[in-house]
Amino acid sequence: MSGQTPLTALKGVGEKRAANFLKLSITTVEELMACYPRTYDHFLPPVSIEEASACTFGAVCGTVMKQVAVRSFGTKNMTAAEIGDGQGGKMRLTWFNMPYLRNTLKPGMRFVFRGRIRLQGKTAVMEQPQIFTLGAYEEKQGTFQPVYSLAAGIKNSTVSRTMAQAFEQFPDLLLTMLPQEIQKKYTSMPYGQALYQIHFPSDERELIAAHRRLAFEEFFRFIYQIRLLRSSVSQEENQCRISRRAETEDLMNSLPFRLTGAQKRTLEEIREGLAGPYVMSRMIQGDVGSGKTIVAFLALYETALAGYQGVMMAPTEVLARQHYQSLNRLFSEQGISLQTELLTGSMKKKEKREAYERIAAGISSIIIGTHALIQEAVQYFRLALVITDEQHRFGVKQRRVLSEKGYLPHVLVMSATPIPRTLAMILYGDLELSVMDELPADRLPIKNCVVNIRYREKAYQFIQNEVEKGHQAYVVCPMVEASELMDGENVVDYARQLRQVLPASVRVEYLHGKMKEEQKDALMQAFSQNEIQVLVSTTVIEVGIDVPNATVMMIENAERFGLASLHQLRGRVGRGNAQSYCILVNCSGNEEAQKRLEILNQSNDGFFIASEDLKLRGPGELFGVRQSGLLSFRIGDVYQDADLLQLASEAVEEYLATSSPEEQGEFSGGLTGESVLGIMS
Ligand code: ADP
Ligand code: MG
Repeated sequence: MSGQTPLTALKGVGEKRAANFLKLSITTVEELMACYPRTYDHFLPPVSIEEASACTFGAVCGTVMKQVAVRSFGTKNMTAAEIGDGQGGKMRLTWFNMPYLRNTLKPGMRFVFRGRIRLQGKTAVMEQPQIFTLGAYEEKQGTFQPVYSLAAGIKNSTVSRTMAQAFEQFPDLLLTMLPQEIQKKYTSMPYGQALYQIHFPSDERELIAAHRRLAFEEFFRFIYQIRLLRSSVSQEENQCRISRRAETEDLMNSLPFRLTGAQKRTLEEIREGLAGPYVMSRMIQGDVGSGKTIVAFLALYETALAGYQGVMMAPTEVLARQHYQSLNRLFSEQGISLQTELLTGSMKKKEKREAYERIAAGISSIIIGTHALIQEAVQYFRLALVITDEQHRFGVKQRRVLSEKGYLPHVLVMSATPIPRTLAMILYGDLELSVMDELPADRLPIKNCVVNIRYREKAYQFIQNEVEKGHQAYVVCPMVEASELMDGENVVDYARQLRQVLPASVRVEYLHGKMKEEQKDALMQAFSQNEIQVLVSTTVIEVGIDVPNATVMMIENAERFGLASLHQLRGRVGRGNAQSYCILVNCSGNEEAQKRLEILNQSNDGFFIASEDLKLRGPGELFGVRQSGLLSFRIGDVYQDADLLQLASEAVEEYLATSSPEEQGEFSGGLTGESVLGIMS
C-alpha cells in the first residue's frame, strides 16, 4: 500500500496509542484500513440453558435466581450468580474481580448472558460472561462485530473505534489497484465501500459482498504478478545436467520398504527432468502420508553424487530439523558419507556463519532448512536443485530470489494440500505435475469418529489404552490463549487437565506456535522418541510432522477447522502399520457442523473432502473457518472463493490482451514487486 498518513492524524490518536499500534505493524492510516478483521463475532439469538450446556460458547436469557455471592481469596474475588431460564434449565455464572456486579444483578431481573461455557460435573458454568439488557442484546442480535488481531495494550474496541475514526476523516484514502475497464466489467461495488463494509458490515449480505469485492482484487493482483514473473522464467537451458547414477538404485533397493508405484514413477519423472535439456520445474502433489520425503531425498542424493548441491526448504524449523535428522539417519544406516547441513533462522550467529562457509566452499552437498536458505548471506557452491516441502507459493518467489543471485537451479515443489486442477493451472501453470495417488501398501485406513464433548472421558480412556499398547497420541486445540470471545480450548490448560486424568506414567506435554524454536524442537524430539506419549498442540503440527508410532489424533473444536486442514491433521496418524484413529470433537453441538465433519468419514481423498466441504457450506458459514493456511491470501480463500479465482484469472488474461504495454507498465507501477511478493510468502 502506498500512502503515508500518520496514525496521529486521527483524532484521538496520540503518540502513545500510535506506539501501541506499532506492535501490530500499523504505522499509517492506510495500513490500519487495510488490516482486515481476523474474524467476526456473530451475535446469535439466545438459546435455552439446556441447549447452551452442550456448547462451549453461547448466549442465554435468564432470570437471576437469588442474591449473588462474592467470595474473596487473597487479593482476588469471585462473583457467582445462578440463573434459570423458566424452562427448567439452571446455570452458574462466575466473574473474577467484578464484585460491583452484585449491585446490577438483583434477584428476579432478566438479562442476556454471553460467554464461555464449561461443564463442572453436571452443572453448566458460564465464565466471565458479558451482560446485556434484553433491549441491548436485541440491537446486537444478528450483527457481525469485527474481531481484530491484537497485541498487548490494544483492545479490540480500540482498534474498532480507531478504524471508524479513520473512515470518518479519510473516507477515500485507499484506492483500487484494478484497471478501470476491469473494474467496470467485473465488479459492482466501489472499492472504498467494500473496504468500509469489511470492517463494519451491517449484515451478512454486506459482509459477503465486501469480501467478494476485496478477494477479487487480491486475486487479480496476485495472478497478474504471477503472469509477469512467468513470462520472465520460461524454458531455460539446463546447465546442471545430472545423469542417472547406479548408487541411487542401490539406495532405493536397500530401503526398509519398497517404493510404491507412484513414488517410483515420480522419481523417474524427476530424474528425467534433472538430466533433460531444460531446467526442471515440477510439483509433486501427493496426499498426506504418500511418502514424498523419501522421493525428495533420492533426488537430492543423485544431485549430490553428481557433484552439485541440493537444498530442501521447509515451512517450519521443526519440520526442517525432522527432515535433516531423517536424512542423516538414512545416510548413516546406509553408510553414505555425504556432508549434510542444517540452516535455520534460530541458529546462533556463529553457527550460521560456519554453515555459510561450508556451503560456499562446497563442503556441504545437501542443505536442509527454512527460509534462511535463500537469505542474502547464503552463497552456494554449485546449486542445482531446490526442493520446497509444503510451501506452494515459495516456488515462484524463491526462484526469482535465487535467479537474481545468479543461480538457475531445478525446482521441485512438494505439496499435500489438494488443489483443484484448474486452480493449480492458474497458480502454477508453469510447473509440471507429478501426482502421487497411492499410499504405501502396509497402511490400514484410519478409523474416524465425530463425537460431542460428553465423549471426552471415553476418548481419554481410549488414549490411555493406546499408550499402554506402546503408542502415542496428539490432541489438537485451536488456539493458544483463552480469549473472551473465542471458545477454543487452551493448550496449556488442557495439558494440565489431561495430566490429572491420565496416570502419572503417561507424559503429557504441550506445544504451540509462540514457543521458542529450541523448545519446540526439544519437544518434537522427545515425542518422536516416545519420551512424551501425549502431545497437546495447536495446529503447528499440521504440516509434515512424521511420527509413525502415533496412532490417535484427537481434535478439539473440530468444527472450527476447514475440512482440508482436518484432513492434514488426521494425516499425522496412520503413518505406520498400526491401526490409527481420529477423534473429532464437535464442541458446538450444532448438527450442520456434525454433518460437515462426517464428510471426513467418507473419504481419505483430500481433494474430494475439500470440494464436498464447499458444497455443504453456505457462504455465511465460511467466515472464521478458513482452510489450510498454506495457501492463505489476506482475504481470499482458494477453496471458498474458487469462482473468483477463476474470474480474476480471466480478467487478467483479458487485460493483458486488450491493454497496451504502456498501460500495463503504468498499472504494474502501482504494484511494487515487494508488495506482491509479500503476499506470496
Ligand atoms: P508425506 O507424503 O506426507 O510427506 P512422508 O514422506 O512423511 O509422507 O512419509 C510418511 C511415512 O511413510 C514415513 O514414515 C516414511 O518413512 C514412510 N514411507 C514412505 N514411503 C514408504 C513406502 N513406500 N512404504 C512404507 N512406508 C513408507
Ligand atoms: Mg511431508
